[in-house]
Amino acid sequence: MPNRYAIANWKMNLPPEGVEKYLGALGDAKGGGALVVAPPFPFLKDVYMQAPKSVGVAAQNCADHQAGAFTGEVSPSMLRYCGARYVILGHSERRNLFREDDALIARKLALAIETGLTPVFCIGEDQNARDRGKQSIVVSDQIKVVAGAVPLTAGEIVVAYEPIWAIGTGRNATGPMVAEMVAEIRAALGRFWPPQFAQNAPVLYGGSVTPENIDDLIGSGNVDGFLVGGASLDSRKFLAIAAVL
Ligand code: PEP
Repeated sequence: MPNRYAIANWKMNLPPEGVEKYLGALGDAKGGGALVVAPPFPFLKDVYMQAPKSVGVAAQNCADHQAGAFTGEVSPSMLRYCGARYVILGHSERRNLFREDDALIARKLALAIETGLTPVFCIGEDQNARDRGKQSIVVSDQIKVVAGAVPLTAGEIVVAYEPIWAIGTGRNATGPMVAEMVAEIRAALGRFWPPQFAQNAPVLYGGSVTPENIDDLIGSGNVDGFLVGGASLDSRKFLAIAAVL
């Protein structure tokens, strides 16, 4: 498993330049990290077929069942069939807009791993928790609940620290803020999962990452890469972010 990542979360959008052109541009990627693209479900196979072979494919969600009467859901094995090797789980938009709780996220994570997908496990505090200085407790609790239900032995997951107040707001966390939270996250990973996993798990940052703020984030953030939303819809911006890894 790679240890540095630039992950493009297109959310429910397509790049204005067009999928084919966007994916073609990824052939010019510089930097040492793995590039991963997370398109909406219907485009997974297109990304798998059209992107350079070095580019990984991620889904933005999955069901906590492999099959059955779950209208509108997509199972981890179906994602594998479409070429996905990763799945974003616990994104704050899923938690807040679709009421996904830690227990559901844990079940999805366990099934995804069992199916051979690498979850990109998103955690992070909201503005209220940050204002009260509770950010470390929030991420620790998010990890604890999931770790209680998902026994990990090695590098089966990627963790993404995504403070909710920074997602899509244009107000990113600074490098030093990110570094502090990465240390807290590693400590929590080591408390609830085997210590060797805590040392080796890639920990990414997400939240209004752009080519303009990337130097501070990579210089003092102590991160293993980025989960990028808005800026990832422009292949030039996404490549500029990936180039620093
Ligand atoms: C995200 O959706 O995971 C994200 C980080 O979005 P943005 O980069 O737009 O803040």
